[in-house]
Amino acid sequence: MDLGGEREALLALAETVERELAPLHRAFERRAERHLERILAAMQRHRISGQHLVPSTGYGLGDVGRRGLEAVYAEVFGGEAALVSPHILSGTHALAVALFGLLRPGDGLVLATGVPYDTLLPVIGIDAEGRCADPPFGEAPASEERRPRALGPGSLCALGVRPTLVPLRSDGRFDREGAIEAIRENTRVVFVQRSRGYANVPSRSVEEIADFVEGVRRKAPHVFVLVDNCYGEFVEEREPTHAGADLIVGSLIKNPGGGLAKGGGYLVGSEEAVSRAAERYTAPGIGKEIGATYPGLGDLYMGFFLAPHHVAEALKGASFAAALLARLGFAVSPAADEPRTDIIQAITFGNRDALLDFLAAVQEMSPVDAFVTPVPDEMPGYADLVVMAGGTFVQGSTAELSADAPIRPPYVAYLQGGLTYAHVKLAALHAARRLLEKGHGRI
Ligand SMILES: *Cc1c(COP(=O)(O)O)cnc(C)c1O
Repeated sequence: MDLGGEREALLALAETVERELAPLHRAFERRAERHLERILAAMQRHRISGQHLVPSTGYGLGDVGRRGLEAVYAEVFGGEAALVSPHILSGTHALAVALFGLLRPGDGLVLATGVPYDTLLPVIGIDAEGRCADPPFGEAPASEERRPRALGPGSLCALGVRPTLVPLRSDGRFDREGAIEAIRENTRVVFVQRSRGYANVPSRSVEEIADFVEGVRRKAPHVFVLVDNCYGEFVEEREPTHAGADLIVGSLIKNPGGGLAKGGGYLVGSEEAVSRAAERYTAPGIGKEIGATYPGLGDLYMGFFLAPHHVAEALKGASFAAALLARLGFAVSPAADEPRTDIIQAITFGNRDALLDFLAAVQEMSPVDAFVTPVPDEMPGYADLVVMAGGTFVQGSTAELSADAPIRPPYVAYLQGGLTYAHVKLAALHAARRLLEKGHGRI
């Protein structure tokens, strides 16, 4: 087919795909309405007003803005308490605060959903098989070859925490029975990752997590179930905390910041879990008492208010991209109409060139830095070279449209975010055109 004809065919295909997806897109919008209703109710009940949006300085003792925002997060996400701060620097930082807050030397940590997200390996201090690279504090150090890159002496392993990795099953689902089996006398934390991360496996639904928590409680009532909730917020009807998890953790430059947060993270859960994490976050004895909120929390309130809408837009875009790229012959996960529990769309390209062409096309359709070409590079916390496409207003924000890929076979891109459906749709169309031009896929 000549290129002009191919372009026409692509537009016709996009029309068809969009028509087929209309009921699904409507369902995403309905869910966003229900989430917004809950957010409004929480903001009204906690009498959020102008004074909550005013910055505080110094120690920030009795900061009403911070207290109000935490009350709203706790209520909407179904926890007793929350720690929400623009000073939590990333999702990894928030998760480290949770893990170091809950675990003590000698405690067991069960990693229930396989190898955790790449940046958590150095936090825990494990290699990709789940083995501690550092011996417990006071024992002889590992030889330099055994110590994976970027592991320092401050990991959980180095402090004497004992991790147990429960591998995923061969179908990519998590091994519920195996994880419950792995709980021992000394187990303090059972860790669940909701999203797929950089792994081409199904993400975990809140329903699956609920069923798992029930099993965990039956065997060990007092372990903490900690959920890495990154990318999951507002995707389903409920959050893992509604399903019994003790603590959920996420980044504000992903779903809950609504594109307006310039940074930050949150932890929501039981009073005990949040206060233990807060003692680690600030200092023992101080916990949640301090924390000034210069330059004010207006963006975080407004971002939370907008978040369900943006998540719905991102989900509409992800399902459009999935349907379109599947028709061009690429393997996608989840399929366009499969239930979603996170905002991530995995697309398998099978070769490095097609992957890089796709990522370059996403970058070209960005509002910022559209002229740069994303190239594979080392990233702190990641073992493989990583390419990140995304010209975002907030640096590295994946609430905004972005696509990342670790450079390893089978060359999978992870597409996520998008503040408007139109943007994701335009980028997906542009990428499809580029792939066809370069001879990848066919229409
Ligand atoms: C993004 C992410 C993290 C880490 O968040 P950063 O903000 O990049 O540090 C952890 N877990 C999962 C599943 C994530 O998607």
